[in-house]
Amino acid sequence: MESNYKLTLKVKRYDPDSGKSWVQDYGLEVGRILRFTDLFRKINNEMDPSLAWNSSCEHAQCGTCAVKVNGKPLLACELLVENAVGEFGTTVFEIEPITVAPVVRDLIVDLEQAYERVNEAKPYIIEPAENFDKGNEYQISPRDLERYVDATRCINCFCCATACISSQKGFLGPNAVMASIVRLMDPREEAKKERLETLYSEKGVYRCHTSKACSFVCPKEIDVAHFIALAKEGRFKPEENK
Ligand code: SF4
Ligand code: SF4
Repeated sequence: MESNYKLTLKVKRYDPDSGKSWVQDYGLEVGRILRFTDLFRKINNEMDPSLAWNSSCEHAQCGTCAVKVNGKPLLACELLVENAVGEFGTTVFEIEPITVAPVVRDLIVDLEQAYERVNEAKPYIIEPAENFDKGNEYQISPRDLERYVDATRCINCFCCATACISSQKGFLGPNAVMASIVRLMDPREEAKKERLETLYSEKGVYRCHTSKACSFVCPKEIDVAHFIALAKEGRFKPEENK
């Protein structure tokens, strides 16, 4: 049987035209298996069409619906009412935008600006290694792939970067750094030197305080801090990367 929950959503709002920022309360009576994106849509349809929020796939694959709920960055499309009440032990939820880039309006942040840090880490192959099996696709051994395949599940939702205490302090951020580490571990990448310079630069891994908040909040259950710890141990430095 469908249980109904009486929720209060306290949403942080921002109007770029007036520069005004405020918290708006919305009271909702909803079923247990609605997701938080459904709640935002319900507010738009039944109460307030002006509330602005972001989503695209709504299958936890694009990362655009990331928000903070009672301080925890997460994907709104993954959070069911029932689970939220259970996890946070309340029916009152403070909803805020993630904090990796300026707010455009209400819960929407400037993702282009957030992506600048990821782009700085060059999350692609800069210089492809020679394929020894000419004419065929480059095959990575299962042993090599196993070392970093978890990290390839990253969807750049920036939940980790929002939770990271070092993110605001000149650090490229956990997801950006991890994207570079993935390519360091990738046998198809030749441009190791350039990557190492970024990784151990002023903006690099030594900014990390090893709080592991990134791993704790990652909706893809990637142990981000593990990959950063490998780099901090110097595993990718040429003399130790045997
Ligand atoms: S590492 Fe996890 S939390 Fe961070 S951006 Fe990728 S998917 Fe999101
Ligand atoms: S472990 Fe490092 S990267 Fe992860 S949240 Fe903490 S300071 Fe940020």
